Amino acid sequence: MTRTPLTRMKIKLLATVTALAISAVACQSKPKETMETSKQKPTEPTTKVVKSEAEWKAQLSPEQFRVARQAGTERPNGDVYKQFKKQGKGTYYCVGCNAELFSSNEKFDSRCGWPSFYDPSKAKNVVTKKDFSGGMVRTEVLCAKCDAHLGHVFTGEGFNTPTDKRYCINGIVLKFVPDASDKKETQK
Ligand SMILES: [Zn+2]
Repeated sequence: MTRTPLTRMKIKLLATVTALAISAVACQSKPKETMETSKQKPTEPTTKVVKSEAEWKAQLSPEQFRVARQAGTERPNGDVYKQFKKQGKGTYYCVGCNAELFSSNEKFDSRCGWPSFYDPSKAKNVVTKKDFSGGMVRTEVLCAKCDAHLGHVFTGEGFNTPTDKRYCINGIVLKFVPDASDKKETQK
């Protein structure tokens, strides 16, 4: 049986619709480099969180994995930073294990292009260690519960904050939970 012109048109139309649908899906699956936000306070870990590389890869986005598990650094002044600057009052948790790390009380504008805090909100969940990578001596900031790389801390830069410390943190490894009472929480 030969195909009628109408059938051919139908096939062409179907092909177009399918192509559109595929490109729509492709757009959606583009890696989103934004800070996770949740209305619900997560359940914090009570003990050390130890996972294999494969387990972390399955749980985290490629960018989260690169920063948290491979000591990577997110792009400065990126979407995550823009998002951070707009956020109101709230708490920042570790994206890997939900440990509370920082809060908006210690957030300050250092203009460095990365989320900055002058003190961890719960010091027990943040540890530091000397980092000799990149030909510099820096102090690395890590999550005490899951050993995720968070960023670096710099001291004595002259910031007008109670500690004059700048916890320069990759926003991609944080999970933001806005204070329920803060109206700014709905702002994207
Ligand atoms: Zn963690």
